This record gives sequence, structure tokens and C-alpha cells, in this order.
Amino acid sequence: MSTLCSENYRHFYNALQAETVSSDDILNLVPGALEYVAGELHMGKFEIRVELTPTAQEGSPYITSRVMYESSEGFDLMPHARIIKTIDKSRVSFAIFPLKGYTWNEEEKGALDLLIKNLYIIMAKSRLTELVRTRQLTDHLTALPNTTSFTKFAMELALKGVLDQYTIVFSNLRNFSYINQTLGSRAGDIVLREYGQRLKDLYSRGELIARFGGDNFVALLKDENVDKYLDSITGINIPVALGNQTRTFAIKTRSGIFKIPEAFNNVGEAVSRANISLEYSKHVSDADRVYFTDTIMARANREREIISHFREAILRREFKVYYQPKVDLTTGRISGCEALVRWQKGDQLIPPIDFIPVLESEGMICELDFYVLERVCENIVGWLEKGIAPARVSVNFSKHHLRNPNLVHDITDILSKYEINPSYLEIELTESAGSDDYKILSQFTDTLKEHGIATSIDDFGTGYSSLSLLKDLSINVIKIDKSFVDNIASEDKRDRIILQSILTMITGLGMGVIAEGCEDKEQARILKEMGCNMIQGFLFDKPMPGEEYTKKLAEGFTYDINL
Ligand code: C2E
Ligand code: CA
Ligand code: CA
Repeated sequence: MSTLCSENYRHFYNALQAETVSSDDILNLVPGALEYVAGELHMGKFEIRVELTPTAQEGSPYITSRVMYESSEGFDLMPHARIIKTIDKSRVSFAIFPLKGYTWNEEEKGALDLLIKNLYIIMAKSRLTELVRTRQLTDHLTALPNTTSFTKFAMELALKGVLDQYTIVFSNLRNFSYINQTLGSRAGDIVLREYGQRLKDLYSRGELIARFGGDNFVALLKDENVDKYLDSITGINIPVALGNQTRTFAIKTRSGIFKIPEAFNNVGEAVSRANISLEYSKHVSDADRVYFTDTIMARANREREIISHFREAILRREFKVYYQPKVDLTTGRISGCEALVRWQKGDQLIPPIDFIPVLESEGMICELDFYVLERVCENIVGWLEKGIAPARVSVNFSKHHLRNPNLVHDITDILSKYEINPSYLEIELTESAGSDDYKILSQFTDTLKEHGIATSIDDFGTGYSSLSLLKDLSINVIKIDKSFVDNIASEDKRDRIILQSILTMITGLGMGVIAEGCEDKEQARILKEMGCNMIQGFLFDKPMPGEEYTKKLAEGFTYDINL
């Protein structure tokens, strides 16, 4: 036993304590360490064999057999052998052969065992560290490299000065949210995992494909391989077992592509440019492949500018609320109005279409909606103080609000702050696709109803609207989208027939209905004939500043309803 406490053993042990990176590195240190104790232990040869099962190795099995020490004096063939099995059925075998002609006594064999045990502990420890490291660099779901790993890899290429031989492809699955929403997140996970597996086969040495969270995949590819990669990801079929049947999904992707130019070393900016190009596909072109251009960059800069000026603009009250009257076709009177926001930036009046989508994508829209609600409340207070009866005002609420569990509370707080009767307010929401959203929407409209606040479904007919679903919601008003109104007077009768049945159902279910975007008398006449008596559109008025609307409201303005 004395051997293990010897000076030599301490040398052996210390030699294995270096800052180790991987279990392979440890194996590389073993021969040097054994030199210290081989003589004392009469070793002729030392062999290690490592067999890792696929579970231990995260995918593929691994076997290595190495001679760690061999004496020049030769060895006898009867080894002192030990096999250590791990929980995941991996095996590490040690075989120590005695020097030629030597036989170990029991005490020496005990020393050999201790040496093996200690060596194994050191190896296992480094293997564990290695696994943790790999985990830190690996996406759990797909086993692809993760964002950290991607950045590390790209930085290394930048340091080597070869990053400009590469192209970044930032891809997003087209139909993923549909799969996730209709079949649940477990099916979604299967798709992502399988998809990740397929991507693994698509890159070669010196390249990398990482998962950047969600259904975002980013590839760093050598320029010459980009086209092939893009072709390979255009249609990947993924079978998903659902209960006792299997459904195959043809996964389509859109990609933003940025070829890294000469002497360009900023990895973050490179990824951002590929991402900007992808966003361009999502919001503008809808193309499968969008290559980065200066125009795309300029657009992204404008969006960044909106985002960076937004808070300040709120504080400076640069957002102005316009009102568009809703007209009752039976009386010609204003029966209500919709609050529509504009951005007064210096002498520029920016329409909502130029900033709302940007704020939506950044989640800032909720702040703006509450700002608009407050300005509306201020106006209602102003009207009441002047003795003007306020017609109900509808305020647009983005569907992002549905993620806020305190939404109703936040709304009623504002109403209490301005001491406003809830019946003056209507919240306009657009319908959304998923069943989860539907549950939340249903709770939201129910609670608003309890508080006496009306709700309407905006842009009806453009989404996944289903009247059968809507009938269970506490919705007061359905707003028929402009696209229906546009076609109403055309030769083709089909739109009219569809609209007629929708209108009959809505009124039959006891909900109110209003048609949006009515621009001429003919449309209004047909709508009235079909039983839709509420109209909002340029035929009567465009959205107007608060003061102008106040005047119309004060004088009890009546529109010409001679259709
Ligand atoms: P929306 O909620 O569907 O609002 C109706 C839009 O149609 C308004 O555009 C209105 O000016 C326009 N419009 C009304 N009648 C006619 C017509 O006869 N012909 C034509 N061509 N257009 C008509 P606007 O004000 O530009 O608003 C655009 C969209 O921006 C709104 O569509 C809404 O989705 C969004 N938006 C506006 N204000 C807000 C807000 O405060 N919060 C949120 N979340 N979204 C808002
Ligand atoms: Ca609206
Ligand atoms: Ca609308």
C-alpha cells in the first residue's frame, strides 16, 4: 500500500490534475503520469479501452482502445484486469500487464486496483465536465449547436480571418405555428427535433447549423455550399405519429441570406443582417429566399428609428387620436366612433400602417393602446364637461394584450381614474387562430362584459373566423371587413350571398353588426338592404382630429342617408 502514498504517486496524481478540456485530453495525460509509478509497480504494459453507448455519447457510440504504457523490458501476457460498468451501460476496461518475469503479490495487486479506481474517478470527472460543456453549447431539443456555440464558432473563423468566405442563412419554418397551435406543442417539438436531425446532415466540416430558439435555425456555410443547402431545405417531409395515425408535414422555410463581405468581422451584425432579410420576407415580400440588400437595411433602420423614438414620443404626446364616425343608416346620426391613432412627428403625420406593425413585432403596441385609451378617456371627460353626449368610442386593442393576465384590471383602472361610465367604451379585437388564444379571448370578453364594457371583433372575415366559435363569446359587435364591402356591388353574386348569410347569422345570434370601409352609396344601399344598418367609411367621413369630431358630435351632425 505504501506505493500509493509515495512521492511517485503524488507525481502521478498531479500530472492528471492539469486544466483539462475533454476526456480525450485526460487520456493523453495518462502515459506521462504512468511514467512516475510504472517502475515501482513493476508494470510491463497498461491498456485502457473505453466503450461508450449511444446514450452516453448523445447519439453515436464511441470506442477507443489505447496502450498507455509499455516497458522496453517487455511484459508477461497475464494482465491484472478490471472492467468498470456505468449506469448507462458504458464500459471502461483496464488491463495492466506485469514486467516480463514478474508476479505481483496480493498487496501489490491491491495497489494496482486503487490506481485503477483513482484513474477511473479522474476520467469520469472530466467526462462529466465535458458533458456539461457540450450541454452548454447544445440545444436540448434538437441536439444541434445553440446560439452560444454558433457565436463561438463564428468568432474563431473571424479570428482566423476567414469569415468572409462564409454566408449566413437565417431560416424560419413557415407552417410551424400552425402545427404548434392546432396539434399542440408536443407535435411541435417532434417536428423541430426531426427537422434539426435533417439539418445535421446538411453541413460539412468547417460549417455549422445552430438552433436560435423557437423555429429559428441559423447556418454558417461556406459560400459555395449555400445554394445546395437552400435547395435541400425547401421541402422537408416530417412524419409525426399522432395517436394511431401518422401525418406527414411538408415543412417549408423562408430564409434571410447574408454573404459576409471582405474584412467583415462583426459576427453579431452579420447575424442581424441575415435576420433583417428574413424579417423582410415575413413582413414584405413573403419570398422563400431574401438576400440582404441596402434597401432592406434602410427599411430596417427606419424601423429601428421608430422603436428608439417610441418612448420619447409617448412622453411628448406625439401620438394623436383621430376619430371616425359610425353612422346609423336609419337616422343619419353618429352612433359611435372608432379611435384611430396617428403619429405627429414634427410636421409629418405618420399613418398607423407605418409604425403599428413595427410596434406589434416588438411588443410595444400594448403601451400605445393604453396611451390611446387614456386620451380617449380624456376626450370623453371633455365632452361630458361641455354637456355633449358621448357616443360609444371603440378603441383598438392588439391581440398581444391577451398575454396580459391583468388586462381587464388594467382597463378598468383607467376607466376609474377618469371616472368614466364603461358603457361609453368598446374594445376592438381581431380574431386569432389558436384554441389557447380562443380560451383567453373568451375569458377576456366575459370579464369585460361583467364590467359593462362592450367588445367587437375587427376585420371579420379576414382571419380564421368561425361564427360557430364566436357565438360562445360575449361579443357585442362584429365588424365586417372592408374586403367584403369592396365586392358587394360587383356582378358576381357570390360575395353578396355569403355576406347575406353571415349577416343573418350574426343578427340571429343577437350580435350587432357594422360594415367597414364603405366608400359609395351603392355599397351602403346594398348593405342596408341586407339588414346592416351601421356603416363606417369614407362615404360619410374619414378619421378626423378630436376637435373636428367634437364639433360634429356637439351639433348632432346628420349625414345624408338618401341612398
Ligand atoms: P382598422 O382597425 O381596420 O381601422 C380601419 C381602417 O380603415 C382605418 O385606417 C380607417 O381610416 C380605414 N378606413 C375607414 N373607412 C375607410 C374607407 O371607406 N376606405 C378606406 N380605404 N379606408 C377606410 P387607419 O386609421 O390608417 O388604421 C389602419 C389600422 O391601424 C387599423 O385598421 C388598425 O388595425 C390599426 N390601428 C389604428 N389605430 C390603432 C390603435 O390605436 N391601436 C392598434 N392596436 N391598432 C391601431
Ligand atoms: Ca379597428
Ligand atoms: Ca377593421
